[in-house]
Amino acid sequence: MDCIFCKIANKEIPAEIVYEDDDVTAFLDINPTAKGHTLVIPKQHSKDLPETGDRTLGLILPAVKKIAAAVMKATGAAGFNLGCNTGEAAGQVVFHLHLHIIPRYRDDGLVPWGHHAMEKKTREEIAAEIKKYL
Ligand code: AMP
Ligand code: ZN
Repeated sequence: MDCIFCKIANKEIPAEIVYEDDDVTAFLDINPTAKGHTLVIPKQHSKDLPETGDRTLGLILPAVKKIAAAVMKATGAAGFNLGCNTGEAAGQVVFHLHLHIIPRYRDDGLVPWGHHAMEKKTREEIAAEIKKYL
């Protein structure tokens, strides 16, 4: 399988790895949105979040918490956004699950996504539709 993030996890290609353990690798994004932008991946390949087993997902978030704290201390960031683009329509380009830790700085002007008003009735209909599948 030709997966660039598997190659990073296996040290076959270089990356600025900031953390690894038996299950997780974290490295700097090569084209960062902000200083300290870090990607956290499971070492085991899965293409996206829905295809990732619960055990692996359970390992990722504690690692994200630890790494994000270090990123914040190292960069002086005032906060961070956690992102997981899932599917081409959402902007996923690399199909190996990865969580983006994007440090945020006061008045940095980044706008990850917009908001718009929606009528209560429409929200209720959407909520009811989602609940059918849960
Ligand atoms: P996504 O759009 O969520 O699939 O994000 C993929 C991310 O991987 C982008 O932010 C890229 O800048 C980053 N990326 C791609 N190749 C590399 C690489 N070799 N090393 C580090 N980051 C990479
Ligand atoms: Zn992979």
